[in-house]
Amino acid sequence: MGPPGAGKGTQASRVAHELGVPHVSTGEMFRDHAAAGTELGRKVQAIMAAGEYVPDELTVAMLEERLAEPDAEQGFILDGFPRTEGQVAALDTLIGEDGLDGVVVFEVDEDELVQRLLTRGRVDDTEDTIRYRFRVFRDQTAPLLAIYGRRGLLVSIDGIGDIDEVTERILSAIEAYDLRPGAIIEESEIPQ
Ligand code: ADP
Repeated sequence: MGPPGAGKGTQASRVAHELGVPHVSTGEMFRDHAAAGTELGRKVQAIMAAGEYVPDELTVAMLEERLAEPDAEQGFILDGFPRTEGQVAALDTLIGEDGLDGVVVFEVDEDELVQRLLTRGRVDDTEDTIRYRFRVFRDQTAPLLAIYGRRGLLVSIDGIGDIDEVTERILSAIEAYDLRPGAIIEESEIPQ
């Protein structure tokens, strides 16, 4: 988890590859639908372009279908999900309250992020939309960190630095906290 532009997509893909599990990115799935012109794609296109969240109903249905695929049986890296309280509840229902092994949070400076996003040049990366997406993240998604914090699942990562360096930090944290897919972590085992 982390604000837009924090590097979630890049890092999630690398870490998933490293662990041999699928990278499940709801943003990427929505972009694929939009590009393919599916019914879902047509529904979400304008929402995404405005920097709004797609309604939970659509997002959860899409995710549920993805996690039911055989390659997700041994685990997965979620990227961009959950983003709302409703999605946290839906995920709890899907995989159980103890279904997640860990939640990696990217700590990054906001000014740096705006610069990164402006150079990325995706269609939803105009300055107004970026600022709006930050606000939506602060209002709707940042509060979810407290929920996972109470469950003892949060691992905070410094997201500034080169891509390899950040990947190394995440992989070391996974090792230190024993967050491998399938590993069980007791709250008492989490280093303080
Ligand atoms: P970023 O990392 O820049 O926030 P994403 O690729 O994760 O971008 O998401 C792009 C857009 O897709 C979001 O702004 C939102 O419109 C939509 N989206 C992605 N994931 C979700 C989700 N879990 N719930 C609602 N909308 C989502």
